[in-house]
Amino acid sequence: MIKEFCQHCGRPLLTKASRADHYHARCLLRVEAGIAEIAKHYSAAQLAKAANAISTGRIDYRPGGVSLVKGTAGTIYRTTSTGCSCAAHIPCWHMATVQVKDLSPGPPVEVEPERPGPGVAKLFAALDVDVIDV
Ligand SMILES: [Zn+2]
Ligand SMILES: [Zn+2]
Repeated sequence: MIKEFCQHCGRPLLTKASRADHYHARCLLRVEAGIAEIAKHYSAAQLAKAANAISTGRIDYRPGGVSLVKGTAGTIYRTTSTGCSCAAHIPCWHMATVQVKDLSPGPPVEVEPERPGPGVAKLFAALDVDVIDV
């Protein structure tokens, strides 16, 4: 059986319920609260782009450093939770992407699963945001 890891804390998921959620129950509550907070600062379109970038792996996430986010036109932006190299007025959706990854970084890189950020799109769906394919 493939071991699964919590997308928030990176520790193994030992119950069937937690594996279905991709998070420990307590971690899921923390991530949901965090995403609800992030959602206050961005439009639905920005959140949809962020969710899409995460679910399609278009972020090279560097915890505590400068992450690389691939924009909708293919340009790579250097982004942190508080700043971005893109020309848009901040807060831009690239920053939202990093902020969500800060909450849900997934397991340590050596056990990175094939599917990036499982569960994140579902959390956005709870906010009634469409995950668009770009
Ligand atoms: Zn956890
Ligand atoms: Zn940006």
